[in-house]
Amino acid sequence: MVLPWFILIHATALAGLILFPLPGWRILAGAVALSWIGGIGTTVCYHRALAHRAVKLNRWVEAALIFFAIFNGSGLPLTWVASHRIHHANADGEGDVSSPVRHGFWWAHLRWLWQAEMPAIGKFCPDMAGRSYRIWPALQPPILALSFFGGLFFGWAAFFWPGAIRLVFSLHAQCFVNSVCHTEPNTPVGSDSSRNVGWLGAMHFFQGENWHRNHHARPALARLGRDWRQPDAGYAAICLLEKLGMATEVKRARTAQAA
Ligand SMILES: [Zn+2]
Ligand SMILES: [Zn+2]
Repeated sequence: MVLPWFILIHATALAGLILFPLPGWRILAGAVALSWIGGIGTTVCYHRALAHRAVKLNRWVEAALIFFAIFNGSGLPLTWVASHRIHHANADGEGDVSSPVRHGFWWAHLRWLWQAEMPAIGKFCPDMAGRSYRIWPALQPPILALSFFGGLFFGWAAFFWPGAIRLVFSLHAQCFVNSVCHTEPNTPVGSDSSRNVGWLGAMHFFQGENWHRNHHARPALARLGRDWRQPDAGYAAICLLEKLGMATEVKRARTAQAA
């Protein structure tokens, strides 16, 4: 169903851009807010907490962030984490399903999402066998229906902008991590080609995923930016949650083993 979903959101987003090129600031703010919280769901929960165990989230915070990640079109936690662990296990090598080395840029950017083989979840996510992760496949269709159609309650411009246009924007922002952030020039074939891409930070609302080379160098760390010159709002969100008692076991450079 991935390809029909992509066609649906792209066609609807295009229609929305033609019919409502200027949606008004309230609708635009709603679309940005949903994309922002969805991005935090992906980077803080899926990526740093679940895939790398760089932080442990309160279970209700974790469930809320999984909801918003699915709402933003990032897919299910089990498949996301399994694919990502495979990616790190052999970055740009033989087993890396999302590498541009495999079949080029568009494979890495989008095609692998519907053409690659499904990851072996039992093998790569033995720590996620609990019911709290198995409930989401049944919930994903209604969550996506709400994500796509929900704006209709507020009119047609709100149907397109916080709906399909936001979904397309969020999709490509996140896909650039697999494509653009894995194109370091002069990397020997089969070697890790990850790189930091500064301009992508703006598209990610400075949530940190664009510092991808740092992340590949030290994937166990909760922080993806190196210092203040590399903004990392995902890490700031983790620090805030830690202060509020909703995040623990934050892996920092002093305490974590560089993996
Ligand atoms: Zn990577
Ligand atoms: Zn990672």
